[in-house]
Amino acid sequence: MEENLAAVLYKAHDLRLETRPIPEPLDNEVLIQIQSTGICGSDIHYWDRGTTGRFTVKDPMVLGHESSGKVIKLGQKVTSLAVGEKVAIEPGIPCKLCHLCRRGRYNLCEEVRFCATPPVDGTLTRYYSHPANFCFKLPQSMSYEYGALIEPLSVAVYSAERAEVGLGSKVLILGAGPVGLLCLLVAKAAGAASIGITDILQSRLDFAKELGADYTLLANGHGLVTAADLIKANIGEVNAAFECSGATSSLQLGIKCLKRRGILVTVGRGTPEVSLNVSQILQKELEIRGIFRYANCYQKALDLVSSGKVDLSRFVTHRFPLEESEQALKAAHDGNGVKIMISSFNKN
Ligand SMILES: [Zn+2]
Ligand SMILES: [Zn+2]
Repeated sequence: MEENLAAVLYKAHDLRLETRPIPEPLDNEVLIQIQSTGICGSDIHYWDRGTTGRFTVKDPMVLGHESSGKVIKLGQKVTSLAVGEKVAIEPGIPCKLCHLCRRGRYNLCEEVRFCATPPVDGTLTRYYSHPANFCFKLPQSMSYEYGALIEPLSVAVYSAERAEVGLGSKVLILGAGPVGLLCLLVAKAAGAASIGITDILQSRLDFAKELGADYTLLANGHGLVTAADLIKANIGEVNAAFECSGATSSLQLGIKCLKRRGILVTVGRGTPEVSLNVSQILQKELEIRGIFRYANCYQKALDLVSSGKVDLSRFVTHRFPLEESEQALKAAHDGNGVKIMISSFNKN
C-alpha cells in the first residue's frame, strides 16, 4: 500500500501534507481507499479563516467530508459490504441513542461526529476507516466523482424535502453555487413546474439555464422591489424559496417572492443576525425552516443519480491531486468553476 498521505489544516492558511498511519477498521467499520473528495464551502472557510459557524480549528485537523472510495478491508462484523466495492461515505456518525437520533433526525444529534468538523478528522487522505452502515454502495459503473457529489446532493435532497417541493411547485433558488445548482436539479426531479434562480455571477446563471432553470436573474444592482417584481412577472409567486447564498438580501428577496403559506429554507450560511420583514412573514403565514446537513438522504441522492433523474455530468470543473490540495482550496476560494475535486491517487 502507498503511504497514507493526508491534507492537515493547522490553522488558517497553514495546510500541510503529512503521512499518517493507515487506520485499522474497528469491528463495524470498513477501511476505504479514498478516491475522490469534493471541496465544500466549509473546507474553504476553515482553510481561509480557521473557523466556520460555531466551529474553530484548534488542533491539526484533516480536511474533507465529501468523499468516495473503494473498500479494501472489512471489520470483523461487517457483512453488508465486500472488498472491492465502491462506496460513498456519509460523513456524520450520530450517537444513535438520543431522542433526535431515535426520531430519525440524527443530523441534529448533539453527539454527532462529523468529518472535518473540529476535532474530528476528515477524509482528505488516502486511507480512511468508517462505519459500514454509513457507507453507501455505488453501482460499479458510477464514477468516484459522482460518489463524492452524493454528499452535497444529499443537502439538496434534504432541502427539497424540507421545502415540500412537489409536482407543479414554483421554486426560487437564491444563489447558483454548487449547492444551489444541485437544489435546482433536485427540484426539477421532484416535479417543480417552474424554477427561477438568482446569482451575482452571470457565468453561474448561464450554467443554471443549461441545467434547466426557467428564469435567471442577475442580482447585481436591482433593488429588492424590482428584483421581486421581475421574478413574479416571469415565474409568478413561488411555493418554495431556497436561500443558498448566505446573503441577507437573498433572504429578504425570498420572503418577498413567496406565496401565502410558502416555505423558505435557509441552506446558505451568512450573517447570523439579519433584519427580515416580519409583517410579510406574519401576513402570508410563511414558514422559515433551517437546514443543517441532512438525515436519511444518501440513498435517495444515490438513486436519483443512478437512475439518471439527476445528471451530474459537467458538475466537476476542476481536478487536483491530493498533493495539490492547497491549490485546489485556493481555486475554490477564488470562485473558479462549479465543483472542485481532489483525487487521492494521481493515477485514477
Ligand atoms: Zn459539504
Ligand atoms: Zn444522537
